[in-house]
Amino acid sequence: MLYREIPSNKDKISLLGYGCMRLPQKAGLIDSKKAETQLKGAIDRGVNYVDTAMPYHNGQSEIFLGKTGLTGGYRDKIKLATKLPQYQVKSQKEMEATLDRQLKRLKTDRIDYYLLHTMDHTAWDRLLPLGIIDFLDKAKADGKIINAGFSYHGVTSGFPKLVDAYPWEFAQIQYNILDEYNQAGKAGLEYAASKGLGVIIMEPLRGGQLVKKVPKEALKIWDSLDEKKSPAEWALRWIWNHKEVTCVLSGMNVDEHIDENIRIASECTPNSLDKKTLNAVAEVKTVYDNLMKIGCTGCRYCLPCPAGIDIPFVFEHYNNLHMFDNKLETRFLYATRVGGLTSGSKTWASDCIKCGKCEKHCPQDLPIPDLMEKVSHKMEGPLMKATMAAGRVFLRKKPVKESRPAG
Ligand code: SF4
Ligand code: SF4
Repeated sequence: MLYREIPSNKDKISLLGYGCMRLPQKAGLIDSKKAETQLKGAIDRGVNYVDTAMPYHNGQSEIFLGKTGLTGGYRDKIKLATKLPQYQVKSQKEMEATLDRQLKRLKTDRIDYYLLHTMDHTAWDRLLPLGIIDFLDKAKADGKIINAGFSYHGVTSGFPKLVDAYPWEFAQIQYNILDEYNQAGKAGLEYAASKGLGVIIMEPLRGGQLVKKVPKEALKIWDSLDEKKSPAEWALRWIWNHKEVTCVLSGMNVDEHIDENIRIASECTPNSLDKKTLNAVAEVKTVYDNLMKIGCTGCRYCLPCPAGIDIPFVFEHYNNLHMFDNKLETRFLYATRVGGLTSGSKTWASDCIKCGKCEKHCPQDLPIPDLMEKVSHKMEGPLMKATMAAGRVFLRKKPVKESRPAG
């Protein structure tokens, strides 16, 4: 494992950070045994940054780390990061109570890296009158948090202002080959690093979009390089090629992925990619830009939707329709799920009641209700709905939940 030093505090952080938002699951709950083996195994092989947050796994991620994941002395082998759900606290008292609750759940006396979760360019102004500065200063003075930072999903222009708003030690940004000029972007990465902040990277594979079903054109470009590596490896190597990057978080639950990520994180040094590779990255980016219609990362912050729509699922299939050569299959998969053939619950994009609830929570600033309309025009139609209704009758599946609330 390679390490990079954070200028503000001289901590040496492993290139690979362990994200605890996608731990292995069994029957809908965290598979504690498997998650413990994977996490402790990664720590044994040099990972020393573990990231969680209150909402991950419906609150169970922090509890898992306290009860199981970091027991047996592992807590002190790593830097532990968790986040204040800043979007729901309404006073300094609530901030303090939340932090105390997190310390209890994590069974620790300190959070090494404490972030204001999912900040945008407007959140700081809302938090200021609530006493955020006093809260952070006091928590640091009391030793409850060691380093303060924030995770960011706002516009590019708002990022430097937030960096300058407080003496942060670090920031966490979304960065990958598709987001070089999106959100904080390259400009934000360089600005934060120039101010001495450590920069933690999230969504390095854009919620899996860069590896799940790679478009043929993109695969051809990767294959044209002399060194043969997977799209995931190239995507990670591109991020670590930036000297300003401290650590890349990966939410891991497959042994082979953990092994591969650790191997790559043991090899990547800044500015080591040659010109041919960098050109290939730019070409791959163009392929995606031309094909991808909706920049949804699948983070699921927009849920639940009162109409029951699985928003990221809908967008993923709309993008798939444009990105891959399997239009019929994509439409079929979409219709069987949203038409209630597999679940019994109908949740078409056209069921959107345009309440706007989702939009407020979308870190990518997507105009979700308008997009729902677009998707429904392209993916749905009376014939498809009638077919699915007939299919439900045939399978004797009654809708278990109507997609529109009464009234
Ligand atoms: S605007 Fe539409 S998609 Fe968004 S939460 Fe409301 S009903 Fe759901
Ligand atoms: S629509 Fe926005 S909030 Fe919802 S999953 Fe996609 S990126 Fe996340």
